[in-house]
Amino acid sequence: MYAFQSVTPHIWRMQLWYTVMPVNVWLVREDDGWTLIDAGAKPHAEKLIRAILTQLNGWPLQRIALTHGHVDHAGSLLALTQAFPNAQVICHREEAPFVTGEKRYADLHPDHRSYRLAPKFPPQAPGVHFTQIEDGDLVGSMYAVYTPGHTPGHVAYWHQTDNAIICGDAFLNILEISPPLNMFSSNLEGVQKSINLIGELNFAHLLPSHGNPILNKGRTQARRLR
Ligand SMILES: [Zn+2]
Ligand SMILES: [Zn+2]
Repeated sequence: MYAFQSVTPHIWRMQLWYTVMPVNVWLVREDDGWTLIDAGAKPHAEKLIRAILTQLNGWPLQRIALTHGHVDHAGSLLALTQAFPNAQVICHREEAPFVTGEKRYADLHPDHRSYRLAPKFPPQAPGVHFTQIEDGDLVGSMYAVYTPGHTPGHVAYWHQTDNAIICGDAFLNILEISPPLNMFSSNLEGVQKSINLIGELNFAHLLPSHGNPILNKGRTQARRLR
């Protein structure tokens, strides 16, 4: 059964599978309800909505916030906005056009070759209205940390009370901690800068989208990739 599991006092995780790739979505408990971080892939919609409703326990889903717009992070967004029409839908202003379709990841031309080999993710949620955020904005109780590189408008969410960073694809933790795959990252210099930036922040737990949370040693491990 798909269900959210507690990770830190205010953060719950559900792991889904997209082909052979594990993908996490997160629910964050706020004073006014809940914030969902990321929206899984399209085939996840039904089980995701069911698990969210169970976890909400009668409290409202106030926000759906994206780390970025890739197919495994925003695929169920349209279905979620229909299931939770009162939730504010949030992503960085540089990312929103890639999710709605005004811009396309395929049109980015990084100066490394492997990006051309990767499948290009089409816009996942045409017509969705985003509340567009910038670096340092508060999303519920979390700070948005602008971490471009993997995509132009990638953000991490920093939960200071829980000492945790929901870092999206700024890091992977499949077998061990690593940068995101080059073939899906549009700016490798940005990827490294964002890794360095996260390493400067004060936290203990690193919660990546792919793989297990790195509890307690998250910052130490993140700083090894500087
Ligand atoms: Zn991604
Ligand atoms: Zn991803």
